[in-house]
Amino acid sequence: MRIVDVKQFFSLAGGTRQYTWATISADEALKIAEPRLRCPECKGAIGLFRRSEDGATPNRGEHKARNRGCSLGDRFDGVHRMAVNPIEPNEESVLAQS
Ligand SMILES: [Zn+2]
Repeated sequence: MRIVDVKQFFSLAGGTRQYTWATISADEALKIAEPRLRCPECKGAIGLFRRSEDGATPNRGEHKARNRGCSLGDRFDGVHRMAVNPIEPNEESVLAQS
């Protein structure tokens, strides 16, 4: 997946800062030191990976445990399901400007 959820302090509209989940690009997430991560869709645990030397695969997040019920994974079976062990599924992620 090219987008990931990270939890950190973000500046929101109105100038407040809030510790929250936000959906950002994998490119941006790679600039963060030891980010807390989850999949934006199924809330499952993911890892971050840098693009391959030859460019065949981009900067990206990948599920730690494959979830065929997540359209951001590579084996989506067409039926959306949350991860078996979702990370803070009750906390919505905001769309952050970075
Ligand atoms: Zn997922």
